[in-house]
Amino acid sequence: IFGGTFSVWLYRALVCLVASCPCAIVISVPLAFFAGIGGASKRGIMIKGGKYIESVAKADCFVFDKTGTLTNGKIKVTKVTSYGEMSENDILKFSATAEEYSAHPIAQAIKQKAKLENVETLKADDYQEKAGNGVTAIIDGKNYTVGHIGLLSEEDKKKITDDTSVFLLIDGKLVGGITVNDTIRTETPKVLKNLKELGAKDLVMLTGDNKKKAESVAKLTGITKLFSNLLPNEKVKHMEELKKSHKATVFVGDGINDAPVLTRADIGIAMGSLGSDAAIEAADVVLMDDDIRKIASTVLISRKTLRIVKQNIVFALAVKAVVLLLGAIGVANMWEAVFAD
Ligand code: ADP
Ligand code: MG
Repeated sequence: IFGGTFSVWLYRALVCLVASCPCAIVISVPLAFFAGIGGASKRGIMIKGGKYIESVAKADCFVFDKTGTLTNGKIKVTKVTSYGEMSENDILKFSATAEEYSAHPIAQAIKQKAKLENVETLKADDYQEKAGNGVTAIIDGKNYTVGHIGLLSEEDKKKITDDTSVFLLIDGKLVGGITVNDTIRTETPKVLKNLKELGAKDLVMLTGDNKKKAESVAKLTGITKLFSNLLPNEKVKHMEELKKSHKATVFVGDGINDAPVLTRADIGIAMGSLGSDAAIEAADVVLMDDDIRKIASTVLISRKTLRIVKQNIVFALAVKAVVLLLGAIGVANMWEAVFAD
């Protein structure tokens, strides 16, 4: 238009075309995410995709399941109580029988105790597990249930004065109770403190266990909000509420009953070896060795990855901008454009 030489301006146009090619950005961004995921997996943290790195980095609400997550996965039976004629040995026998196929940490503890005491278990029909509630089995035509306090009748509930964990019912009538030592992991308070320092506004506990137990765990660990006596669908409801008031929510859990919440949370984190298959499948991040300290590591790795992604974008764009400008005024030649790209 302004009378320049055709060949000179065609050359400059080609220099600009090469310099403006987006390869650098297209390669550097996913590469940084791959590196982040790879670095995390070296530390035993399996992240199932780049988008979770973005969510974890801005998480400001951490929600925990209690049993097996804040507390030790390896539970032991500490007491067997009889509320009628049945002997303690029989309570253990029928409970262990009904728990035969359950992978719940409390079920494992009961079966282990029965084995330790040389209690023979029986054959039962129609085993059923209701996640977050307990198990039932039919033994000799009678319905045996092992589960939490909510299954008891109002009358039976009055008999419970201590912190018994699960109860044995025959055809809906209370016969025995089993207490387990659901102790807090030694590292839990430190982990929660770390998360707070990393900018967590809320540290929440959602548990199927009773209020008394939940409150004592919350006090000792630094949990700021707690909801107890929850069924799996109620856990989901609370999660939906929490999602509304936070930028991104993380849920950490281990059980079958946690699977729906793990899917609903922005990021679900499951325990790798302790966790049930359903939880691992539903989660976005899996801690292979059940070490909850790695929740903080996941946040740090994610933030570093995003920082590098941003650096890459700024660097790539800046180099291209400079070369485009120099190319337009005829200072940069084709080789420099190729190099910049
Ligand atoms: P949390 O949410 O704290 O991990 P769960 O939802 O797994 O706890 O279980 C809640 C409660 O339901 C337990 O504290 C226990 O009383 C009862 N429960 C769940 N599954 C079982 C089971 N297999 N055997 C006995 N009790 C169970
Ligand atoms: Mg649990």
